[in-house]
Amino acid sequence: MAYKFIDNYRERGARKQLVALLKQRGIADTRVLEAIGKVPRHFFFDETFWNQAYKDIAFPIGDGQTISQPYTVAYQTELLHIASGDRVLEIGTGSGYQTCILMELGADVYTIERQRSLYDRTIQVLPYMGYRPHFFFGDGSKGIPEHAPYDKILVTAGAPLVPEVMLTQLKIGGVLVIPVGNEKEQKMLTVIRVGERDYERIELDTFRFVPLVGDQAW
Ligand code: SAM
Repeated sequence: MAYKFIDNYRERGARKQLVALLKQRGIADTRVLEAIGKVPRHFFFDETFWNQAYKDIAFPIGDGQTISQPYTVAYQTELLHIASGDRVLEIGTGSGYQTCILMELGADVYTIERQRSLYDRTIQVLPYMGYRPHFFFGDGSKGIPEHAPYDKILVTAGAPLVPEVMLTQLKIGGVLVIPVGNEKEQKMLTVIRVGERDYERIELDTFRFVPLVGDQAW
């Protein structure tokens, strides 16, 4: 497959403006902003829609799914406090854009997607761009127990509840970021594993995600 990956002054300029906008909207972590400034978001769009790539909007990527809004990507990433070398499980690879942001922060990413066409695309595009996460195809609502425990778990689709099985895959001190609610809107939650059986839960802002579909989900 031939991909057109050109990052010229127009896209670089638009990316700088996006970073400034996210800063204005309250994203304060400079490492997260730098990562957004580095990853060419237009590479995840068909060339016809490159003019949409640096707007702060979610955008269709096929199969009824979306590349998340840049603000949402930055917001979730900020909550994870990624340290270099963190083992991160990402549920819902989608376009792979968020995966690249996590990798720019030094994370060792295990990413899982349930839509075959999206999975097939990311396993080609991301290595082509120089990003080599561990790719998995299947239902991530159960986590990936074979590679647990994780320092961080990120869910990029809206869940009806926090799957118990995910919590047990966190290291002590590990953090889960997950949007939980109904099909229309979800509250962003962070759950920190503070002990073998103890978790601290913090409820944050309201978002609207595509549904997490699977065994421990919708
Ligand atoms: N961060 C991604 C991006 O920027 O492209 C967001 C992708 S989209 C908002 C959420 C993704 O989660 C979709 O691609 C969807 O197919 C996937 N998904 C939903 N349920 C899933 C499940 N149980 N396991 C794995 N992926 C799932």
